[in-house]
Amino acid sequence: MLSVHTSPLHQPGTGDAGGMNVYIVELAKRLAQQDIEVEIFTRATAAGDPPSVELAPGVLVRHIAAGPYEGLAKEDLPAQLCPFTHGVMTAWAGHHPGHYDLVHSHYWLSGHVGWLASERWGVPLVHAMHTMAKVKNAALAEDDRPEPMARVIGEQQIVAAADKLIANTEEEAADLRRHYEADPGKLAVVHPGVNLERFRPEADGRAAARRRLSIPQNAIVPLFAGRIQPLKAPDVLVRAVAVLLDQEPALRDRLVVPIVGGPSGSGLDRPEALHKLAARLGVCDVLRFQPPVDQQSLADWYRAATVLVMPSYSESFGLVAIEAQACGTPVVAAAVGGLPVAVRDGCTGYLVRGHDPRDYAQVLRRFVENPGLSEKLGAAAARHARCFGWEAAAADTAEVYAAAQDAHRRHLRSAHG
Ligand code: UDP
Repeated sequence: MLSVHTSPLHQPGTGDAGGMNVYIVELAKRLAQQDIEVEIFTRATAAGDPPSVELAPGVLVRHIAAGPYEGLAKEDLPAQLCPFTHGVMTAWAGHHPGHYDLVHSHYWLSGHVGWLASERWGVPLVHAMHTMAKVKNAALAEDDRPEPMARVIGEQQIVAAADKLIANTEEEAADLRRHYEADPGKLAVVHPGVNLERFRPEADGRAAARRRLSIPQNAIVPLFAGRIQPLKAPDVLVRAVAVLLDQEPALRDRLVVPIVGGPSGSGLDRPEALHKLAARLGVCDVLRFQPPVDQQSLADWYRAATVLVMPSYSESFGLVAIEAQACGTPVVAAAVGGLPVAVRDGCTGYLVRGHDPRDYAQVLRRFVENPGLSEKLGAAAARHARCFGWEAAAADTAEVYAAAQDAHRRHLRSAHG
């Protein structure tokens, strides 16, 4: 596997580390349990990064030196793809021929490295986009900056070069066809999973989690969890909270709005923007900013919440939506990207069209007015989330690998007459 711009060893929820890191860790571990050994190449970002680290039995992370450890943004990395590829090739040269059976690249930067590596090694290339420039640009928040043309071109090249493209949902597969003219024969849909041992409901879970987090038992708790950037629209939740408090000032005493995560992407341009907005709207007292936490602690935040709110502008899947549900917490989400797959409207939460804070406030009011609603939807949410185990995702991915190997062999046979 190739994960150039972010390491599976990094804490997700801030900077460049998010759902893709979780995806790679969980998938690699489950593939290893199914006897597919995995090596993950990633860029070294600290002087102390050892050349390789065993992440789990059968999963090795290899650090490649490519550019300075710190100070490079994701946007700077296209210039480091040659040094990175050089490092990958050097590692490969130390092995017997045929060491790697297949390359699975994640995100377009890795796809470019994978393209070359797969051709050099004579093995298939399976690629997962995770997010796509054209899809993001088509649904930008008002103050967000678009993805550059170089990325669009890079993605186009990978779509043409890959033997198989793994999409999170049918919607993403359709986007690959619509925006990048992907060959339908290359597309495979594999739903990501959720770690059902880590994210699970617990008897008395909400009360216990609230005690641990010092949240009053009678509080209404709409939770935001994830990377703080315009694309994820935490500002829509903050604005919705202001609308709600305007309509019902008495709610102020029992409204707690945790925002768990750190700045990322274009959110790093103005890391204080959300705090300033909250101050302007006079809602600082109900917000609780919490830097990124490990997943064990995040499960507690999910359990403590009345509802997870995810007003994203685009989302290829949205792991936090399925994690919260796995903990028995319903989700209010924008009806974009993979979220309509993750959330069953009216059953495990609610989908909202658009990003008008008043619409989100209206949905949040339902939880205020109907105290049993969170528990009712949460029970259905926990059942729904059980369909998304990583074992199934890994088994489906292994099938894609086998199909890629078949397609690759057929391609070679026809190329050689
Ligand atoms: N996450 C975490 N700690 C935090 C916030 C988020 O570990 O404080 C993890 C979360 O469990 C999830 C991932 O970060 O698996 C975010 O994935 P998602 O698909 O929701 O968003 P992405 O980051 O891919 O845009």
